[in-house]
Amino acid sequence: MTALDSDLRFSSIAEVIERLEPSYPVFCIFPDVLRARAKAFVEGFPGTVLYAVKCNPHPYVLEALAEGGISHFDTASITEIATIARLMPEARCYFNHPVKGRGALDAAAKVYGLEDYVVDHADELDKLISIAGTDITVEVRIATPKGKAVYDLSAKFGATPDDAAALLKEARQRGCRTALAFHVGSQCTDPSAFRVAIELAAKVRDKAGVPLEYLDVGGGFPAIHKMNVPPLADYFGAIARACDEFGFDIPLLAEPGRALVADGCSVLTQVHLRKGDDLYINDGIYGCLSEIRDGDLDPPVRAVTRAGPLAGPTQPFRIFGPTCDSLDVLKLPFHLPETISEGDWIEFGQMGAYSIGMQTGFNGFITDTIVRIAGMHEEFVY
Ligand SMILES: *Cc1c(COP(=O)(O)O)cnc(C)c1O
Repeated sequence: MTALDSDLRFSSIAEVIERLEPSYPVFCIFPDVLRARAKAFVEGFPGTVLYAVKCNPHPYVLEALAEGGISHFDTASITEIATIARLMPEARCYFNHPVKGRGALDAAAKVYGLEDYVVDHADELDKLISIAGTDITVEVRIATPKGKAVYDLSAKFGATPDDAAALLKEARQRGCRTALAFHVGSQCTDPSAFRVAIELAAKVRDKAGVPLEYLDVGGGFPAIHKMNVPPLADYFGAIARACDEFGFDIPLLAEPGRALVADGCSVLTQVHLRKGDDLYINDGIYGCLSEIRDGDLDPPVRAVTRAGPLAGPTQPFRIFGPTCDSLDVLKLPFHLPETISEGDWIEFGQMGAYSIGMQTGFNGFITDTIVRIAGMHEEFVY
């Protein structure tokens, strides 16, 4: 079997190992898990759920989320918009990147008919209106404090409250519909960050005094990994209470990425050499595992052999990726069985977010064998 064989379906990781004995890395998608995550979010969130496509744009992932009830998508490039249009012609895309090229805007408006666009600056509003006209909803993105998120998404984008109010007024005066958006930061471990942001949004709303179509509370809902994060219900509750407290009775939107897909995928790697406490494997930071370094993630791992899971006492290992670059090393010591050896496999669990969509192909190493595995993947889904 090669990477180009499509529609590889299995019933377990053990079956992948038995049938493929892969010496190449395999990206494993669990559609049943993704469907369940989408369904739970759609049922729990008090508004419309947009999936942030950048988090994992693989068609198998998009298809499973759609089956779980997602039909709105947060898109940031014309490629993402085209992917959704091709796979799901009925779905609705929102162009939620605050800085867009003229060509992308032109195609979004005239080819794909998008109606919703994020801006955070007056010049972007000018550009947008000159291309898409005024029969659109302009979502003004406000910057929010970073709080307890792993990634700050307001360092690069987002208007100050005063600028946001001015932008809303300007968009309204020119004949556009208006809305407000924010993003509290990715892997946000504190539900009260949403209350802080909603309070800020209320100030902007009151200052602008224009009608709002909706409030988009962004993404940031955390994945579990081994972190002790609050359940999603706490976030939904905090958002609903803050909307009550600050008088938002307009429709709500959310744009989760990570929380929908993280635990629906694994990366199955193989040990190609052991040197003492160092393991050399076939995926790394230029492949699907960069978030382990950049997001300080501590994903669950387990070692598997042809005969089944490898048990026994564990010890810490340093893990190197396959490229020739010395930087290609995972940050944490990983605790794996002392007897692990060349040819054994290591499964990195909960790797659905910011993994396959971020790999580079550097040095010719690319994870391009994608398989689907049925069931809830009990080993790693908590
Ligand atoms: C990345 C991003 C998201 C998704 O963020 P998660 O932390 O994965 O939920 C949502 N909205 C915007 C605008 C983004 O840039």
